[in-house]
Amino acid sequence: MSSANCLFCTFVSRDIEPDVVGETEHSLAFRDVNAQAPTHVLVVPKRHVANAGELAEASAEELQDLVLLARSVAEDEGLVGDYRLVFNTGAGAGQSVFHAHLHLLGGRAMKWPPG
Ligand code: AMP
Repeated sequence: MSSANCLFCTFVSRDIEPDVVGETEHSLAFRDVNAQAPTHVLVVPKRHVANAGELAEASAEELQDLVLLARSVAEDEGLVGDYRLVFNTGAGAGQSVFHAHLHLLGGRAMKWPPG
């Protein structure tokens, strides 16, 4: 399930310990090292897949688990329904780590469209 040379797989295995804010059987949530908002958390599937579409194809249950963990962390962070969830897919869309991850951003006003 894990992939060699994948940063987020080393977080899931805890060979490297991220700043964890939540966990379920299928998903891990930790703070982004380069936060773009007062709350910036990444929620990753424990299964190694490259992006959200691959996760949906592999397991609808695990995709649901990912989103529900993001919502739970948002509530823990006091975001009370005002937050942004983002999946970047592909380098052209800004993806830099090719292990699926859901960005949870909140705690400041959000603009649209994103850059
Ligand atoms: P993306 O650009 O959508 O692939 O998002 C990857 C995210 O991973 C970026 O927001 C980075 O700041 C974040 N990131 C990279 N390295 C680490 C790390 N060691 N710990 C936590 N977050 C990281």
